[in-house]
Amino acid sequence: MLKELKILKSHGTQYVKNLRTQPVSELFRGRPVISGNLTTEEVKEIAALCPVNAIDEKSGSMDLGRCVFCKECAFRQPGKIRFTNDYRIASNVREALIIKPGHEDTVRLEEPRVRPEIRKLFKNALKLRQVSAGGDNANEMELAATGNVNFDFGRYGVEFVASPRHADGIVITGPISRNMAEPLQICYDAVPFPKIIILAGTDAISGGMFTDSPAVDRSFLDRYPIDLYIPGNPIHPLTFINGVLDLMNKL
Ligand code: SF4
Repeated sequence: MLKELKILKSHGTQYVKNLRTQPVSELFRGRPVISGNLTTEEVKEIAALCPVNAIDEKSGSMDLGRCVFCKECAFRQPGKIRFTNDYRIASNVREALIIKPGHEDTVRLEEPRVRPEIRKLFKNALKLRQVSAGGDNANEMELAATGNVNFDFGRYGVEFVASPRHADGIVITGPISRNMAEPLQICYDAVPFPKIIILAGTDAISGGMFTDSPAVDRSFLDRYPIDLYIPGNPIHPLTFINGVLDLMNKL
């Protein structure tokens, strides 16, 4: 017994104590900051090089729901575009993911637009079913990491479950390939009300690199309200965790 206790002590503390304030590497690409001094030519240049049309060629604003965080625009304009390591970039409002030049505002949930039933029913626990709809396993791995010994999201009662019938909502990853459109609908139909929908990652939010592909069918997203958008390519576990905690109104 003494030996086991010694081993436990030698392991130290592995879990992240405060999931809200945990610092991450300076190298992490989180919320971008765009200078208000970009010229028209510079905006056009970075808009043209962006592989996913995430930069508006008129205003220079950047859509985090489209961005794949390749940082090419920042490499081209190092003095005027930089990526902070702020990982709290989830929101329940699609427009909130658009970063405007000259603004350093953080990205947050818009409280009045959170469905009241979510706040009422899921203050203490939330069970989710993950659906990889043409995903490449990157976001799926990060979602799995939220439950590991480091992040331990289960401490807030948030877990992924095997059946949609046991879930309060679904987390969609991937651009929604045509062959996953029907299974996604079947899965959603099996979830009881109020049927939370979370889009995790650029591909799920906008289609990403596959936006115009004939192999995707995103009509599912036109039929239902989205409760949470989690930008990232792939997402960071802390982005997902903080977004869901905000949705549940966990301090
Ligand atoms: S970091 Fe985002 S906005 Fe910039 S070039 Fe890459 S995809 Fe486009």
